[in-house]
Amino acid sequence: MKMTSAPSGGSKELLKLAKVGEELDRQLLRFGSAFEDYQNAQPDLELPTTEAMTEARESLRAELASALEVMRLIDSGVSVAATTQRGNFWTTPLTINQAFRLMEQASPDSLGFRIQADSNYAKHIARVYRQHAAASSTCGRGNNCQTRTVTWPGRTRGPGCWRHLTPEEREELTKIYDLAVEKGPCEACQVSPGKPCDENAEPKNIDGWFSPIRKFNKRSVHLIRLEASVA
Ligand SMILES: [Zn+2]
Ligand SMILES: [Zn+2]
Repeated sequence: MKMTSAPSGGSKELLKLAKVGEELDRQLLRFGSAFEDYQNAQPDLELPTTEAMTEARESLRAELASALEVMRLIDSGVSVAATTQRGNFWTTPLTINQAFRLMEQASPDSLGFRIQADSNYAKHIARVYRQHAAASSTCGRGNNCQTRTVTWPGRTRGPGCWRHLTPEEREELTKIYDLAVEKGPCEACQVSPGKPCDENAEPKNIDGWFSPIRKFNKRSVHLIRLEASVA
């Protein structure tokens, strides 16, 4: 993870990208008509990659145009909501739609995009450090056991490693895992309440963050689902 670079930027590079994109667009247009000629020639060979490239032209144009529009607003100091609708502090990079939504949800006392992005980034880093501290804290039970403590939703560190939990703690933590699955859907793997988390689901960007999976007592649950259930 990049810890030191500026969390908000890219307007100069986007302008450059858009310029090259325009050249590419003209080339793709020519490419598209050459491909059309090819297809009209009753060709012996199918060219799926080539076809996909001619179709990519429209989305390239649309994406760069909206990105430029949003970037102009950001550069002009547009104000945005500090959090997403779910109440999470967002971090960049955002999708174009996410950026638009944050602008729509701005209130009169909202901050400018870049100031808010910096502030949210600082919060994000603090969270990463907290999680790192929690993940690197050692058990200490037994003969000063050096195994990492378990993740305990709602607490900074678990009371011990998975081997040194008391039977009561083991039962309590198992219940937290089961309750998280019963109580709500999972934002990370998109399963509905009652359904176990899908470990093979493609990682989903949740407000700029990817939720890891946590395992305990033969249960596997995304951290965001565990946290949501004790919030
Ligand atoms: Zn231990
Ligand atoms: Zn999940």
